[in-house]
Amino acid sequence: MLQTLGTRGFADPALHAEGLYINCQWEKGQDIPVVDPSTGEVLAHVADAGIDDALRAVDAAHAAAAGWRATPSRQRSEILRRWFHLMTEHADDLAMLISLENGKALSDARGEVGYAAEFFRWYAEEATRIPGEYRPTPSGSHKILVDHEPIGISVLITPWNFPAAMATRKIGPALAAGCTVILKPASETPLTAYAMARLGEEAGVPAGVVNVLTTRNPGPVVSAMLADPRVRKLSFTGSTGVGRALLAEAAKTVVSCSMELGGNAPFLVFDDADLDAALDGAMIAKMRNAGEACTAANRFYVQAGIHDAFVDGLTKRMASLKVGAGTDVATQCGPMITQKAVQKIDQLVSNALQRGARATTGGKPREGSGYFYPPTVLENVPTDADIAFEEIFGPVAPVYKFETEEEAIRLANDTEYGLAAYIYSRDLKRAMRVGKGLESGMLGINRGLMSDPAAPFGGVKQSGLGREGGVTGILEFMEAKYYAVDI
Ligand code: NAD
Repeated sequence: MLQTLGTRGFADPALHAEGLYINCQWEKGQDIPVVDPSTGEVLAHVADAGIDDALRAVDAAHAAAAGWRATPSRQRSEILRRWFHLMTEHADDLAMLISLENGKALSDARGEVGYAAEFFRWYAEEATRIPGEYRPTPSGSHKILVDHEPIGISVLITPWNFPAAMATRKIGPALAAGCTVILKPASETPLTAYAMARLGEEAGVPAGVVNVLTTRNPGPVVSAMLADPRVRKLSFTGSTGVGRALLAEAAKTVVSCSMELGGNAPFLVFDDADLDAALDGAMIAKMRNAGEACTAANRFYVQAGIHDAFVDGLTKRMASLKVGAGTDVATQCGPMITQKAVQKIDQLVSNALQRGARATTGGKPREGSGYFYPPTVLENVPTDADIAFEEIFGPVAPVYKFETEEEAIRLANDTEYGLAAYIYSRDLKRAMRVGKGLESGMLGINRGLMSDPAAPFGGVKQSGLGREGGVTGILEFMEAKYYAVDI
């Protein structure tokens, strides 16, 4: 299986099962099993960091902080650029590792590696363009000078669904800003993080600037780091529930927080949409990573005039997808991350079916080994079914019919989330008007994919705080310092 791509060596899980990575030292540990979700078999074990290990990582990040902050931004930029090139060079191997531990199809994994590496290239460029400000006060009393300084030691916590990209989206801007970091990847997918740390070392990241640790007990371990007054930033990507708990934890020491949380993206299709384009977009918005994405279309609202043709087209496309192990190059829909995830999807679908929905394809978990759920389309779903309010995080597309623009906006906004939304219409004026009415941090207009390192990624409402990527992403890792200058 591993022979299908790359230089077997670097894609070998055993090579990256050495963690922890603290102060440029690899510390052995064989505590947490990493499982291949397509078989349920153990791929490797990684170390389990305790509170003492986490505080040693803070020590290392602290010891490196002054030197890294003082490193000229051009030099920081060049290290990030080298890291970008190394990721690109090892793209096939990294994709294989992601596919092995996360389960996503190799095509998705390759896409993720490209996306992830671009954050290093983008922030290599932004590192040398940190903004400042100089202007007179309106009263003319003095001059205002604003400088931006690195915020300090940053704790970065990432989920399992994009093991590479969620890490680089934080490490890139943090290092560009001059911060040292401790990355805590999800324990389901730690191998990619350790592999990237190896490449960072090769790129010239100095000891202590990037530290990586895995743990079975993220609650106490992260709390201990947040309680350390040297830690000044928490950048978290994960579920809204854990995000809320971490905000409360960070409040104790008033640590600055960036939060990229859950989503419940509506996908709106108006009668005047280009049907084929809407179906192409729907497949991308729904099926990237088999639906395990925070931006995944979670609710399809389709106007009455185009509804039946859309359901028909979507059913055909979903039913034709090849389900299998992500590492098989033919696979288009890999397994879910755990059996628990399959059970959650099953519950949401069963609830919708009991409430009167109909599955036009799929509708129940696949038997056999691995954590598979087949691509599923549900029609006639009641707008108040559980599935309309929870992240499905799987290959299930519930379709709801609407009549008017106002109704579509009201239904789309009926959620605590506000991360991403999609609108398909040939009338750009309408699309922009509807977009304005939607409570969402990001909108795809006639596009099923919006993620781009050069754009500000993030949500409103309970989908998060702050933005990653783009020109503002670096400021999440900086503090503005204002000098009142008497000239
Ligand atoms: P999760 O919240 O369970 O875990 C995320 C990370 O937090 C993991 O590293 C986990 O080990 C850690 N964690 C768990 N409990 C913790 C605690 N008490 N204290 C500190 N850390 C803790 O989320 P997940 O299941 O890994 O990821 C899926 C979720 O992430 C979905 O809700 C998805 O929408 C969201 N997500 C959001 C974005 C975004 O950019 N907004 C991107 C990807 C995923």
